Amino acid sequence: MYPTYSKWTLPNEVYDQATEIMEWRYADNGPEVIGDDCFEMLRACNEDEEGSPFLPKYFKQQTRLEAFPYYGKDDSRTNMLWSVFEYAAEIVSHREDVSESLYCDIREKLDYWKEYGEFPPSKRKKRKLPTGDIAAFRICVEAEIKSLVDQAIKVAKGKGCPMRLQSSVQNDLQLKISWSEGRSSSWGGTRNGKPYISLAVADIKLGKTQYTFNEYSHIAQLKEIGSCKGSREVYLASLIAHELAHVAQHYSKITKDYGDFTEMDAQGKASICMPKILKVSHGSGWQEIYRYLRFNWVNKLPTYRNC
Ligand SMILES: [Zn+2]
Repeated sequence: MYPTYSKWTLPNEVYDQATEIMEWRYADNGPEVIGDDCFEMLRACNEDEEGSPFLPKYFKQQTRLEAFPYYGKDDSRTNMLWSVFEYAAEIVSHREDVSESLYCDIREKLDYWKEYGEFPPSKRKKRKLPTGDIAAFRICVEAEIKSLVDQAIKVAKGKGCPMRLQSSVQNDLQLKISWSEGRSSSWGGTRNGKPYISLAVADIKLGKTQYTFNEYSHIAQLKEIGSCKGSREVYLASLIAHELAHVAQHYSKITKDYGDFTEMDAQGKASICMPKILKVSHGSGWQEIYRYLRFNWVNKLPTYRNC
C-alpha cells in the first residue's frame, strides 16, 4: 500500500527530533537508543522501492515541506512510525522552549492517529465539569495521588537508588493533575527550574476496579518496567514512578548531582556535565531509576501483575 498524505502537520521541532531518531537507528547506533520496533521500521523502509518517504533522506523533506505520510490503520508500519513520533514528542517535551500545552496538543494528535489511523478533526469537544458522585470521587483520587507521590519520593530517596532523588524535590515538587478526556499523556521533568509532574488521569473512572498501565512501546515488553495490571493503586503508582524517574533524570541538570551516573573529567574529578546516560529521555539512566522504583515499590503492591 502506498502512503497517502494529510495536510495535518506537527511542529518542526518534532519532525527534527523524529528525523534524528530515524538517523540514529539508520546509523545503527545501538538498540538502547530506540526500540527494536523502529529498527524493524527502517528495515521495512529499505525494502520499499527507491524513493520511499520513509527513507531518512526523503523523510525530513517530505514530512516537513509537503505533508505527513501514513499507511492505513492495519498497516504495522503505521504503528512503527507512530512509535518514532511518540518518542520524538517525549524528547521534545523536555525542551524549555516547548510549552506544556504545545506538547499536549502534539500528544493528542498522535493518540488520535494511533486510534483511528487518520488525523483529528480540528474542532475540540467542549468539556463538561463533573458534578455529584464523580466530583467527590475525583477529590478522593487526588488525595490518593498525593499520598502515592509522597510514598514514591520516599522510595526514590533510598540508598540503593542509582540516582537518589534530590532532597529538594520533596518541598519543591509541583504536581498537576488533569482529568481532561482529550489528554492521555503525563509528563515529568522540570519547569522554570523546579521539579514538576503533570499527570493525565482521565482513565481513572468511578466503579472501575481493574486497570492496565501501558508503557511506551519500546519498553512495554520488559519484565520489570514493562506494562502491568492491577488495582487503581498499581496504575497510579506506575504512572507516578515513571514520571518521578524523569524528575530525578532532568532535575539533575539543575542540581548537578548525578549520583551513580557521575562521570569523571580528564583530571579525575567528578564532572558537572550531564552524563550521556541521562540525556536520552527513556534511555538506560532513566530506566535504571524507574526500575528501582518499580522493583522496590510498585511491583510489590498486592494486586500487581505483569502484562
Ligand atoms: Zn516518559
